[in-house]
Amino acid sequence: MILDLDANATYAPSERLQGVITSACSRLGNPSSLHRGGQRAKAAIEGAREVIRALVGAGSNDTVVFTSGATECNNLILHQVSTAQSPARVVSSTIEHPCVLEPLKALQRIGCTVTLVNPTQEGEVLAGTVAPAVTTEDQLVSVMWANNETGVLNDIPHIAAAVRSQAPRTLIHSDSAQLIGKLPVDFKRSALDAMTISGHKFGALPGVGALIVREGVSLAPQLLGGPQEQKLRGGTENLLGIVSLAAAANEVLETLSERTIAMAAVRDRFEVELRRALPDITIHGERAARLPNTSSITIPNIRGDDLVVALDLHGVQISSGAACSSGKPEPSHVLLALGQSEERARSTIRVSFRADQGAEVASRAVEVLVAAVSRMHSTVRSV
Ligand code: PLP
Repeated sequence: MILDLDANATYAPSERLQGVITSACSRLGNPSSLHRGGQRAKAAIEGAREVIRALVGAGSNDTVVFTSGATECNNLILHQVSTAQSPARVVSSTIEHPCVLEPLKALQRIGCTVTLVNPTQEGEVLAGTVAPAVTTEDQLVSVMWANNETGVLNDIPHIAAAVRSQAPRTLIHSDSAQLIGKLPVDFKRSALDAMTISGHKFGALPGVGALIVREGVSLAPQLLGGPQEQKLRGGTENLLGIVSLAAAANEVLETLSERTIAMAAVRDRFEVELRRALPDITIHGERAARLPNTSSITIPNIRGDDLVVALDLHGVQISSGAACSSGKPEPSHVLLALGQSEERARSTIRVSFRADQGAEVASRAVEVLVAAVSRMHSTVRSV
């Protein structure tokens, strides 16, 4: 049986959700159609919007824009900068996901000023680092809520409040793709203008996400076409994806505190047992506030990619750095930003647990991992 310890890459729908998705297949309709089939689809989408507002604690007049996922949400918000009057300026961090960093590079190429702040060695981006980098000239500040590789949390309410008092008109956004389904969030009480969520990170189908935008903030569309999604995103809505997003959100709303506790139990046991077996490991962000399910671990003298392959042969799925970047030889930009050397970054793996994995999973993971590491060490010694 496959043991999937790569929940931060994607989080497959539960059996209950698969049932909801399958039955929605027989009720597909185009929400723009006037007939009953279309209106039923439209009602499903509007119902889903309400569920997403509840999920993130958004106000009833805040906008929820359904998209194809976090990548599109982040591109949509960063697109606002290119439509602003020049000279455009943005502040973000060096540990963002590539779907923030790459659009930022594109903005730089058209003359925007991009300031990227560094995290602490533990991997946290501090309000005290972000706020001084922001001026009233900045159009946008974008800082992720939880890092996908280390799981380290940034105190976004604090960062947003500090930026707001410094630059009241600057748009403040957070890529919150990894937070949802793991910890609670309260959009209304934060000073954020916009946040990004991604369905497949908390049990919905891949290919759907949402950008939540505070009431009164107006955005320029990136995808021009029909009037769908408040004219912010033309194109027939991904009804199945949106239905799955709402169903996954409802599961999170019903079970979040149990999920958090279950994830922390398995992750914490895993780290304790792994350190007992391999005392020279480093657990990144160990002293910082972290997602309850994520472990980023450097194992000296081991190639993370080799370990991923070795574990896969034994039915255990993990990741080396971010899933989106595995397969590419460069070391993780996140670990380099934490001050790790290239060699140590390449010796790092990410293990991320699901809420429905019992704590005994931790012992099996440690057993398989330690056996693979000792095989690799003995191979190195014998050559
Ligand atoms: N942002 C973060 C923090 C992520 O972890 C990911 C996926 O790994 C993304 C954005 C991209 O999400 P999506 O696959 O929904 O485009």
